[in-house]
Amino acid sequence: MKLAILDDGRLGVVDPAGQTVTDVTPAVPGHETGDPLGAGWWVRLCRDFDLLREHLQRTAAQGTPRPLSETPLRAPVRCPTKIVAAAKNNAAHVAEMQQRRIAGGQRPEAADFDIFLKAPSSVIGPGDAVVLPPEAIAAGREVHYEPELALVIGRRARDLSVHHALDAVFGCLVALDMTVRGSGDRSRRKSYDTFTPLGPWVTTVDEVADPDALDITLAVNGKVRQHATTRDLLVDVAGTVAHCSRVMTLEPGDVILTGSPAGVGPVVAGDRITASITSLDELWVDVVASRPLPSPR
Ligand code: MN
Repeated sequence: MKLAILDDGRLGVVDPAGQTVTDVTPAVPGHETGDPLGAGWWVRLCRDFDLLREHLQRTAAQGTPRPLSETPLRAPVRCPTKIVAAAKNNAAHVAEMQQRRIAGGQRPEAADFDIFLKAPSSVIGPGDAVVLPPEAIAAGREVHYEPELALVIGRRARDLSVHHALDAVFGCLVALDMTVRGSGDRSRRKSYDTFTPLGPWVTTVDEVADPDALDITLAVNGKVRQHATTRDLLVDVAGTVAHCSRVMTLEPGDVILTGSPAGVGPVVAGDRITASITSLDELWVDVVASRPLPSPR
């Protein structure tokens, strides 16, 4: 099932072809409308999806589909307790980063793999805008895209074995791990507001045949810059989830980004970034130079 968030935080089911969305909010237990911070219903949905699936399907079948082309979507997450992201999880990407620092680095390997945190406040949704941080641009820093397979966690989990790690995953989606390139703390460089575009919706894990065999394509202004596969992750998807769970307890609704392929590069104001992953559809965002005033909460 493809689950989207629309309007002021309502839940929609997207049809298999990715053309329409049907509001199924009445089928969601404990849904709070009008509260932008209300996350409880989403956390319960992530945790209890197997129990709710049939009711959601029935409600969608009885509802009125709206064309997605006319329905703005929000990021398909609600206040995750954390966004964990893999660093150095693709040999070719590790090599290109080493090339930026030193000529001829050592051979990258899975031992370089690490994880870090991105601020949940950096999340934006499909069609939103990535804002270039003025001080980073003034300092001559580049802002790069990193397209990544992202996972939403479906149950509280710690110390998972690799064998059972995927059991803790609720769904998959497309992420952009936007990054100010250069020195300085990684979590700060990747946590500016708008630096975690997520979407366009969550595809439940039962509809993703093999998370370790998905093609990732990234284009800027329609020109393909990256075409890669999750097969090339140094630590595979289950291994990444298991590793995260050995560091911190995973909660339903938490998000894990599994790491970027090689071919990352800078964007400038006016660019449109499009990232797509097999069976997870396409996420696009525009890049802008200044931010609008925050909306009141
Ligand atoms: Mn990344």
